[in-house]
Amino acid sequence: MNLPGPDPRETRALAPWAARPARGRGRVHAEPAAATRDDYQRDRDRIVHSNAFRRLEYKTQVFLNHEGDMFRTRLTHSLEVAQIGRSIARALRLNEDLCEAIALAHDLGHTPFGHAGQDALNACMAEQGGFEHNLQSLRVVDALEQRYAEFDGLNLTFETREGILKHCPASHARTLGALGERFLRGGQPSLEAQIANLADEIAYGNHDVDDGLRSGLVSVAQLRGVDLFAKHAAALDARHPRLDERRLIAETVRAMINEQVTDLLRESAHRIADACPADERAVRSLPALIAFSDAMRPRVAELRRFLMQALYRHPAVLERMGEAKRMIRALHAAYLANPGRMPAAHHRRCDEIGPRAIADYIAGMTDRYAISEYHRLHG
Ligand code: MG
Repeated sequence: MNLPGPDPRETRALAPWAARPARGRGRVHAEPAAATRDDYQRDRDRIVHSNAFRRLEYKTQVFLNHEGDMFRTRLTHSLEVAQIGRSIARALRLNEDLCEAIALAHDLGHTPFGHAGQDALNACMAEQGGFEHNLQSLRVVDALEQRYAEFDGLNLTFETREGILKHCPASHARTLGALGERFLRGGQPSLEAQIANLADEIAYGNHDVDDGLRSGLVSVAQLRGVDLFAKHAAALDARHPRLDERRLIAETVRAMINEQVTDLLRESAHRIADACPADERAVRSLPALIAFSDAMRPRVAELRRFLMQALYRHPAVLERMGEAKRMIRALHAAYLANPGRMPAAHHRRCDEIGPRAIADYIAGMTDRYAISEYHRLHG
């Protein structure tokens, strides 16, 4: 029986500047084509089936994973980024599969306990070049996943890997070959990567409002001082004066996401029409074409400042983050003093590559695994 190939209508519908697997820069290790899926679909599938992806379910976004089942985790965050990213990519006739693959992989390198975990591990690794979750996401897909007989990592395409690597210091970029070039010479990644990056911002800005309200650490009254929220909440008050707070929050957050996505689509469509890039390679030497409008940018920044000050630096959050940092430091010290405390495979790796193997092991932990390891090692 002949299997149907990738849907040709999809390919025809793409804009000339959309990423196309057939014109991509390929994988590090050449592989035969799949019968029914193109290269970006395969990248997405490899990411979904990876160990690191499943562990996102038990990693903190803002709230510690065990504090409540209603809060976002890295997994649900990544799914929201993928959903927003796909919607934008489809509306602009860009490659949804590439955008989705990048979105699902973008946080694979996150440590347990969110940014607190990263900061602690970065300090522990200061003498070995530090630790940064974005570089680690690339390391996960390039080296740490062990699922193939013939190579380490997932052997993803250049375009997915390029999209995962959002920022990169020059010293590190020089070690990455073609992938590091844009950080040395300047330049943009694909439009699909630019979308995934902004979809991440839209997703966390809005879901952290929702989670912040649910936690009780920030209030609707406070958010009524933030323009993006206030405008939609006031419109709802007028239409539904006796709406209960849960619905008011859900409706307002929904309207906020919609307004930001719509603004991004309109501005990006303008910029693309003005620049009229010849193809997907031409976008790399143009200024960013996926962007918010000048009117929206300060409003998004205002929301981000509010979240930083009212939620991420809330004393209750900082206290839990302090505990989390202590746990990461203690784990690192324990493994450094005696790498034999790690499982045999990680111990062996530590003999081969040194302390980076300890950072890889800790970064791969879920929140609850890190907590149980901490109690095992420190009573
Ligand atoms: Mg993210």
